[in-house]
Amino acid sequence: MTDAPGTYALLLRAGEERIIEVGALGAMPVRPGTYIYVGSAFGPGGLRARVGRHARGDGALHWHVDYLRAVTALEAVWYTHDTERRECTWAAALRALSDGTVPVQGFGASDCNCPAHLARFASAPSFDTFQARLSERCPDHASVERVGTNDLL
Ligand SMILES: [Zn+2]
Repeated sequence: MTDAPGTYALLLRAGEERIIEVGALGAMPVRPGTYIYVGSAFGPGGLRARVGRHARGDGALHWHVDYLRAVTALEAVWYTHDTERRECTWAAALRALSDGTVPVQGFGASDCNCPAHLARFASAPSFDTFQARLSERCPDHASVERVGTNDLL
């Protein structure tokens, strides 16, 4: 991962049942399972700066995902340095995976028409399946990589 722009997915593991407040979205029930949040970083510092911030979990609660990040463990990050913003495509591909559900309407999707940029899974979906679904949807999609949390801190 470099400071070039790109699109990323955070795999966030929730261990216990709780209810959190997510800014203007209000109350969100968090259940045990894997939440996958999709975002993109096209500003200064690119992907490395943004994902590093999510990995450390520091800074002010700014984006919807910051509230969820505060009560979950980051297990892995999937990313691409594709020069197109792929977050809406990634969110759609995740929702289409078996077992993928939208836990809260509008989460992370304030600037587009997606139901959410967050999907929930009882158990984490396969990276290989996700990659295959992306190339079906976008044959010109640049390569997708994955890293574990230890590589980000
Ligand atoms: Zn979207």
